[in-house]
Amino acid sequence: MNQHKVIIVGSGPAGLTAAIYAARAGLEPLLLEGEAIANNDLPGGQLMNTTEVENYPGFPASITGPELISGLREQAVRFGTEIVGKRASQIDLTQRPFTVRVGKEVFRAASLIISTGAKPNMLPLPGIWDWANRGLSTCATCDGFFFRGKAVAVVGGGDSALEEALFLTNHADSVTVVHRRTELRASRIMQDRAEANLKIFWRLGEEVTGIDGKEKISGLRLRNADTGVSSTLAAEGLFVAIGHTPNTELVRGQLELDPAGYIVTTGASQATGIEGVFACGDVQDPVYRQAITSAGSGCRATLDAQRYLESLVSVTA
Ligand code: NAP
Repeated sequence: MNQHKVIIVGSGPAGLTAAIYAARAGLEPLLLEGEAIANNDLPGGQLMNTTEVENYPGFPASITGPELISGLREQAVRFGTEIVGKRASQIDLTQRPFTVRVGKEVFRAASLIISTGAKPNMLPLPGIWDWANRGLSTCATCDGFFFRGKAVAVVGGGDSALEEALFLTNHADSVTVVHRRTELRASRIMQDRAEANLKIFWRLGEEVTGIDGKEKISGLRLRNADTGVSSTLAAEGLFVAIGHTPNTELVRGQLELDPAGYIVTTGASQATGIEGVFACGDVQDPVYRQAITSAGSGCRATLDAQRYLESLVSVTA
C-alpha cells in the first residue's frame, strides 16, 4: 500500500536529520533520497560537492561533506528509515493523504517534509551548457583534478567562489577569481585566506561576456563593469560559483514561495501554508544556508510533523 505517516523528500543534512528524528520517534519515515543525474547532482545534496566542512559543530578536525552525509545517512538507517534511491517526479498536495510519485510508483503519506535543497546557478550566456565536460564546471571537488598544472577561472564573489578557488589551488597552476563587483561578498576569513594564497589572482569589477575555445575552453572574454573596456583571460577551466536556486519544481503552484522562489514557512516553525506539509533546509532558507542550520531545521520539521500527526490521532480518538 505504500502508505506512510511521513515521507521526506530530499537527502541533504535537512532531510537526513528529519529522518533521524522521525525514525527515533517511531514514525517509520520513508526518505526519497534522489539519484545522480549529473556529476554535481548526487543524492546527499550540495555537501556531496564540498571538501572540508570546518564549521559543523562536533568535528574539531573538520569533516568532508560526503563523510558527513554518509554518517547522517547511516544514523537515519540505523533507527529504521526506509530509503528509496529515486527522485520524486510529482507531489500532489490537493488531497489527503498526500501523494508522491516516482514515475508510476505512488507513495502516500499523512504528512510530508520537503527538503529538496537548492541547485547552482549558471551564467546567462547563450549555449554555455555546451561547454559542460569541455572545461565548464560548477564543482571544483568533482572536477579540479582534471586541471592539474593548468590556469583556471572561478566566477563569483561569495564564500562558495573563494572556497572553490582555494580548493583549485591544490591542482591548478593559477586560479583567477572573476567577480562583477570590486567588493567581494565572501566572509572576511575566506577573503583573507584567498588573498594570502599566491596562486590566486583577481579580476574584480569584470563580467564574463563570452567563452573562447574549440574542443575545450581556452579562455574567457571579459568586460569591465565600470568602463565597458573588453579584455581576455587565458583559462582552460571555468568554475561557476554564483549562488543557488531552490528546488521547488515539485511544489510550485501548491505551496507559497517568496519572490526568490524559496518555500515560505510560517512563524517560528517549519510549517508551510498546507497543514501537514513542512519544509526545511536550503529550499526554504534564503538567509543562513549552512549545513548546521539545515540540519537544525530538519529536526524542527520532524518535531512539527510529529505534533501534527498526534493532533490527527486526538481528533479521531
Ligand atoms: P552568494 O553568497 O549568494 O554569492 C553569489 C555570488 O555570485 C555573488 O558574489 C554574486 O555577485 C555572484 N553572482 C550572482 N549572479 C551572478 C551573475 N549572473 N554573474 C556574475 N556573478 C553573479 O552564494 P554562495 O557563495 O554560493 O554562498 C551561499 C551561502 O552559503 C552564503 O551564505 C555563504 O556564506 C555560505 N557558504 C559558506 C561556506 C563556508 O562557510 N565555508 C562555503 C560556501 C558557502 P554579487 O556579490 O555582485 O551579488
